[in-house]
Amino acid sequence: MKLSVIGCGYLGAVHASAMAELGHEVIGIDVDPAKVGALQAGRPPFFEPGLPEVLTSAGATGRLKFSTDIAEVADATVHFVAVGTPQSADGYAADLKYVDAAIEALLPHLKEGDLIVGKSTVPVGTARRLADRVAESGTGARLAWNPEFLREGYAVKDTIEPDRLVYGVDDERDVDVLDRVYATAIGAGTPRIVTDYATAELVKVAANAFLATKISFINAMAEIAEVTGADITSLADAIGHDARIGRRFLNAGVGFGGGCLPKDIRAFTARAEELGRGESVAFLKEVDAINLRRRVRVVDLAVDALDGAPFGKKVAVLGVTFKPHSDDVRDSPALDVAVQLKGLGADVVVTDPEGIDNARLRHPQLLYTATTEEALRHADLVVLVTEWPEYVALDPEHAKSISRASTVIDGRNALDPAAWKAAGWQYVGMGRN
Ligand code: NAD
Repeated sequence: MKLSVIGCGYLGAVHASAMAELGHEVIGIDVDPAKVGALQAGRPPFFEPGLPEVLTSAGATGRLKFSTDIAEVADATVHFVAVGTPQSADGYAADLKYVDAAIEALLPHLKEGDLIVGKSTVPVGTARRLADRVAESGTGARLAWNPEFLREGYAVKDTIEPDRLVYGVDDERDVDVLDRVYATAIGAGTPRIVTDYATAELVKVAANAFLATKISFINAMAEIAEVTGADITSLADAIGHDARIGRRFLNAGVGFGGGCLPKDIRAFTARAEELGRGESVAFLKEVDAINLRRRVRVVDLAVDALDGAPFGKKVAVLGVTFKPHSDDVRDSPALDVAVQLKGLGADVVVTDPEGIDNARLRHPQLLYTATTEEALRHADLVVLVTEWPEYVALDPEHAKSISRASTVIDGRNALDPAAWKAAGWQYVGMGRN
């Protein structure tokens, strides 16, 4: 099939490449010429494992192209919209200006029977509003909403082998169109849920709200563990054995971040308030507050470890991305902790395998180094905030030999406390006795 993908960021670039890899002919459109230039040259503009390979292999087939010229979508019959829906500058609601602009830009190039497929995460009600706009355009095009559940770090695999497909449709014919787009996944038995627009939109925000709640739940338990001497990791293991609860997403730590969970739960509360149902999801404000408190907790632990005098002390911050296997620093707890410590006068030195360039753009006032060794050298304190495998595998004896620090703060409960204590460290975890 001939597809277009409007918006080639973390979601769209992967979607475009994966669809071409699966045999479709794809034109990816973005307003950012630098991004388009990199993608067209086969270079991913961001770090995502597996993306270089699909970009190269799909590019070599001639089925994958990128452009800044929206007119190039004219040959395609299915048009995915994957532009950003960030938090508004003046509140919690999602800013839909990119989605609206993408639809307006598309409309002049559409023809009878074309299908616009929204993938961006949007407030419930958006698809109906956009479908009305498409209908009034007189193009004869239709609209479906097909939310995306990929995880950064696993985005290529999640796109090629999704764990489910959700189609929000207004016209039965669109089920067949989407089934042809996703023929490989459907053939492999991927569950698919065919529903209306509102349910499809809500599935996405409900899933993210649930995941955020699960993380904040265990972090709330960590707060109680911290004042009682209980151990959150044993607690999580014990409750996680209950199949109704499950162990995944029950790792206490510095909390969630990134370009999705924080802004999605905030947009959900804003939308629920607009709908007169603010109380139904008011708990998400608490989920958000618990999450943000964990960042402050790490900073407080750091100040304590520096005897209340962080000024001029070298703090090695290990990790700056919101999670490992990504270069994404949007709303990153790790970056937030680094900035807060710098604000208290510490000489913060940040290291990360992939996120330094993005972090430097946002916070040039921090010191960055590409090597863990340099970050640790003569550090007065070590703070792990993103659990990259190389930090989890650090040799505590070597770390001890090159730093001045006596304490390691494990903001992700990812280190082996016994090994670090045996090497002479004072180990401070999150909710761990
Ligand atoms: P992003 O900021 O990385 O990418 C958005 C891209 O859209 C940018 O490259 C931007 O230049 C481009 N763009 C903006 N306006 C445009 C226009 N009018 N025409 C063409 N291109 C335009 O964002 P992202 O992380 O890829 O997220 C996109 C959407 O997908 C959001 O709604 C997000 O919530 C959702 N989502 C993201 C993920 C994820 O893991 N990143 C997962 C699931 C859903």
